[in-house]
Amino acid sequence: MGYQYRKKTVTPRPDKEFKIGNGRISGYGSLFLGSMSLAAVLAYLYPAYLTTRELRAGYDGAFLQEVLKYSMWLALFLGAITFIINRKKRLGFAGIVITLIAFALGGYNIPLRGVEAQPLSLGMDWLILAFLGSTLIFTTLEKIFPKYRHQLILRDEWELDFGYFCFNHLLISAVLLVGNFVVAQSQWVMNHNLHYLVQSFPLLIQVFILLICADFVLYWEHRIYHEIPRLWSFHAVHHSVETLDWLAGSRSHVTQVFIERTLVMVALYTVGASQAALDIYVAIAALQAIIIHCNLGFSWGILKYLIVTPQYHHWHHSSEKPAIDTNYAAHTPIFDRIFGTYHLPGKHWPAEYGTIKKLPKTFVGQFLYPWGKF
Ligand SMILES: [Zn+2]
Repeated sequence: MGYQYRKKTVTPRPDKEFKIGNGRISGYGSLFLGSMSLAAVLAYLYPAYLTTRELRAGYDGAFLQEVLKYSMWLALFLGAITFIINRKKRLGFAGIVITLIAFALGGYNIPLRGVEAQPLSLGMDWLILAFLGSTLIFTTLEKIFPKYRHQLILRDEWELDFGYFCFNHLLISAVLLVGNFVVAQSQWVMNHNLHYLVQSFPLLIQVFILLICADFVLYWEHRIYHEIPRLWSFHAVHHSVETLDWLAGSRSHVTQVFIERTLVMVALYTVGASQAALDIYVAIAALQAIIIHCNLGFSWGILKYLIVTPQYHHWHHSSEKPAIDTNYAAHTPIFDRIFGTYHLPGKHWPAEYGTIKKLPKTFVGQFLYPWGKF
């Protein structure tokens, strides 16, 4: 008798949905824009410590200050609406107060300073841009093509995952610093003849080579986390999330974040592709890492056999027996196929998500959890 696949049931919670008239859109909108604005104002005040050297070359600070201006006024406007419609006034009040603090600190009129970011800084700019962009793109996609239509945007434990999103984005320059240091120490594995050869290929071939090589490294890194009990307790943090959406993928123990990024950087530099190919790879990898956790029921057609899709990775997060320790790959199913860990049962999706043994539900509890296993 084969395994009986079931459907996950999501109970509708109309009282918790974002609907026009119940004050949630204006209340959370005000709080969201107000908080992002305050964070941006702090980054304009202390650019040396709150912006990222690697990122600053890629955006226009003056243009973003214009965006900040509209965000701040919109935050105040949305906050005021909660009082007019007399719903969620506390959220609106918090949004207004936070925005007024941002105004008091200089708002969108802080003179742009040409100071260089410190090599080790907090990536406040990266956090704000990534959060605004991701919320806009992925929340929209999840609303248009949902797998679970009744799943809430502010589902259980969203605050915890938002905390992980902030923490892991703020640490970007530390991650790059460690990664670059290890790459510099690994020069002995780098072969310049291989680099010349790879760079002689067309750009798309180079990107393809990077995807396959990174996937091989990520596959084994991931599998080792699952198969060595002490390492599993670090990775279990990522698996403890029980509602998958674009934010859920952010939940990762910081130790794993550093190890994973460093290993991938060494792999990418060992291949030695051109900078353009590296940039394209990083963009694809970042997007795919978010998409595969999304609540997306989009039909991928034939692509579902060629790339890692949400359905594929949702199975990796399932606590159902046939899915345990399967679907390790990050980019393509190739290595799961080769090494016998492939699980994609037709049109079925998991009914159960998360870890069998429950973890603490707080950021600090989860940070300490694996260390208690030593
Ligand atoms: Zn895993």
